[in-house]
Amino acid sequence: MKLHEYQSKLIFSRYGVPIPKGRVASTAIEARTIAAELGGRVVIKSQVLVGGRGKAGGIRLANNPHEAEDVAAQILAMEIKGLPVRKVLVDEAANISKEIYLGITNDRAARKPVMMASAAGGVEIEEVARLTPEKILKVHIDPLLGLKDYQARDIAVGIDLPKEHWKLFGQIASGLWRAYQECDATLAEINPLVITGDNRLIALDGKMLIDDNAIFRHSDLADMRDLDIEAPAEVEARKYGLSFIKLDGSIGCMVNGAGLAMTTMDIIKLFGGEPANFLDIGGGASADKVAAALRIILSDPHVKAVLFNVFGGITRCDEVARGILTALDEVKPQVPMVVRLVGTNAEEGRRLLANADMITAETLAEAAQKAVAVAQA
Ligand code: GDP
Ligand code: MN
Repeated sequence: MKLHEYQSKLIFSRYGVPIPKGRVASTAIEARTIAAELGGRVVIKSQVLVGGRGKAGGIRLANNPHEAEDVAAQILAMEIKGLPVRKVLVDEAANISKEIYLGITNDRAARKPVMMASAAGGVEIEEVARLTPEKILKVHIDPLLGLKDYQARDIAVGIDLPKEHWKLFGQIASGLWRAYQECDATLAEINPLVITGDNRLIALDGKMLIDDNAIFRHSDLADMRDLDIEAPAEVEARKYGLSFIKLDGSIGCMVNGAGLAMTTMDIIKLFGGEPANFLDIGGGASADKVAAALRIILSDPHVKAVLFNVFGGITRCDEVARGILTALDEVKPQVPMVVRLVGTNAEEGRRLLANADMITAETLAEAAQKAVAVAQA
């Protein structure tokens, strides 16, 4: 789960990272009020969950509250990389003398978190990473020991940070590490961390990714989720505990088990079709869940056929069949459906579906071929 800049910076600030004064606004008038409160120059920043907002024109300075209102209105009307801007952050503008990059992520190969820093921070950091990777310093963090003071100092020295900033930099680096660890983040990043004209160190931008598998123990973070940016079907699926990912094809897939769902997608492709989604209804899926899943699949107008591939283990085929019947009753699908049921209570499941208007198949290969054929008809 991605957090917005304003959310990430607020979290960082709780861990002792200095951030600019400011607040988020959803209207231009609000932006004007905030700018008036802050006084002086402000920066209006689109809050969308993509990188490169600056380059896209989603970050602009305003000299006074009147200008702030104007600029905010323009930015709130923008779409950045396909995402509508619904909020802007109004921050007091910083006078930048140097932009530093500081971030933490997991280094899977090293099986440890890694802190990365660069004196060449700012909007070109991806280019720096690509063309001159030696300009990015990396220090692995032992997850049990945490970031040690000497490591933060090594980084400060490594990026040629003037000595007067070392103490605060240490506090920022350690705060970023604690935020990363305590929030179960997979990324915590400040880009840029700036040295201002009046020689302060301050986090101008913030970005956090939270591990979805750990969200259950962070209800405060879960509440920060921005539902706007997710496909409505994915939001709906989460409500029912379904793992669903929308894809671009025409064959809707309803499968139990992630591995089987992947296999099903592969086989559809093997026979020349394109899956419309990944969907794992999970083990022991109830009729309710199956009905919700079918509704979600059919809400996609590109779906021309649905393939049910259920391997009964913990999940019982009769239970799934009942779910299918409930769902058919509710949504009255207009597209052909192919079903393959094997395993626990498959007989009973097939008997239940005998009168439903469905194409049956014995093997996955047969089911996939039939689905591809009817989707193309
Ligand atoms: P990003 O493009 O999405 O990473 O957004 P950032 O918040 O990092 O802003 C992009 C760039 O805009 C920064 O690297 C700065 O150069 C510039 N910027 C952001 N805030 C300010 C500010 O308060 N004052 C000035 N002068 N520039 C800023
Ligand atoms: Mn940035």
